[in-house]
Amino acid sequence: MKLLGNSTRGINLIQKRQLYRCCTLPIALYRFPLWLYNKSLTYYHFNILRKMQRRATLWITGAFQTAPSLGVEAITDLVPIHLYIKKLYGRFLLCQSSLPSNHIIHSILSSDGLHEHSSHNASIDYLIAKQRSRLKSSLINVHDKRNEFFPSFSFFNHEFKSGNHIIDIFPDCLSFHSCTLNAKKNICNLEEIIIKVSIDPFTTIVISDASIKNQVATSVSHIHSYDKPVVKTLHSIVNITTAKAELFAMRYGINQAVTNHNIKHIVIISDSLHVARKIFNSSTHPYQIHSATVSLKLREFFSKDFQNYIKFWDCPSKLQWALHHVVNQDTKFMTSVPSFPYKSLWDFCKKSECDSITSLWRMTFQASDSKGRNFLGLLNDDLHPIEPSCTKGGLWLLHFSYSNLLYTRASRAITNHAPIGEYRLRFFPKESFTCPCGIYSIETRQHILHECHRFNNY
Ligand SMILES: [Zn+2]
Repeated sequence: MKLLGNSTRGINLIQKRQLYRCCTLPIALYRFPLWLYNKSLTYYHFNILRKMQRRATLWITGAFQTAPSLGVEAITDLVPIHLYIKKLYGRFLLCQSSLPSNHIIHSILSSDGLHEHSSHNASIDYLIAKQRSRLKSSLINVHDKRNEFFPSFSFFNHEFKSGNHIIDIFPDCLSFHSCTLNAKKNICNLEEIIIKVSIDPFTTIVISDASIKNQVATSVSHIHSYDKPVVKTLHSIVNITTAKAELFAMRYGINQAVTNHNIKHIVIISDSLHVARKIFNSSTHPYQIHSATVSLKLREFFSKDFQNYIKFWDCPSKLQWALHHVVNQDTKFMTSVPSFPYKSLWDFCKKSECDSITSLWRMTFQASDSKGRNFLGLLNDDLHPIEPSCTKGGLWLLHFSYSNLLYTRASRAITNHAPIGEYRLRFFPKESFTCPCGIYSIETRQHILHECHRFNNY
């Protein structure tokens, strides 16, 4: 890898980081659950992997060999290896639970009546408590994890069979209307729909929204029908994602609409059109159970009369269209206090694990001395301290990524290995450490960045 680039030339830091993440890490962690399992001894493996990551981070940043690991990892936006493996292991446990119900792995796990296989002779079911406590295997972790969330996949549902997709059979009965850039035009379109329902006895409008507060998702739908008062529904549930709550609100609204036999046209107005598209998505996704139910209802609705149709209109919250804004406020008005423990949704589990790893990394970074006592704290554009983040790449040196030399210099400055007075005072106290400007006795990084007139024009 040293042939590809160094601190002065070669591939830039983003390419170096991607090369490490996409080529080195997958090879090093190939089939890692074989050595990482319930009660396994992992010190030796983690030690090798830590050394590997340290060498990679020093290669990417060009920092000194003595630079602290946690600090350099944060600068390069690489999660510490033990946290990264923890995240991957969590994903591995979740993936086992997303396998089809006829998969053979279910016969070895404890039977719960949901799967088609009968228990295997080596199933966890047949172990006594003492044997289970002594068993060293990922299977125990998979089994325990499976009890933490409720199922959301439905692989063999009749609705998802090829040749039976609702979108293929009734392509003209549904349509999606995305929001345009012209806000006034969007509001005019939505107003026209409302006027139409006030004079059309065959149309019903469902306005839905959802929000999450204190881990409680609240979904609200207002159903407008001709010559009838508005039907308002409100549901709240713990530990699910906003997308699932949005889909549930739509599902409930559609269920209510199709029960009225006079209704021929349904209009759904929501700020999550991408979630509505999931209803007609026949590929594998964690909303399959809801999608199958809605799809079945719509199939019956379309089969009654080929003139029946459903339309989905996009209405972003920032548009603040009056009727949607009321629904939006209703979702935020509701306050519930969750009483644990509750089972979670599959994708909520996935998201919360990722969030917990990030917060653990941030906590370690703030509290630990492993980042280096002289690590330079910087502020972002909003004047908040920059923290490690897994989402949008490294914030530290995003602006220096075009030049290897500049990036290396900045890395050394942040880890206090820049050849300035502060560094000389620490490692070579006999040498001069005053600033050439003569104003400040020690040439520190803060002085150079904020005060020294040699670099600042005042
Ligand atoms: Zn100075």
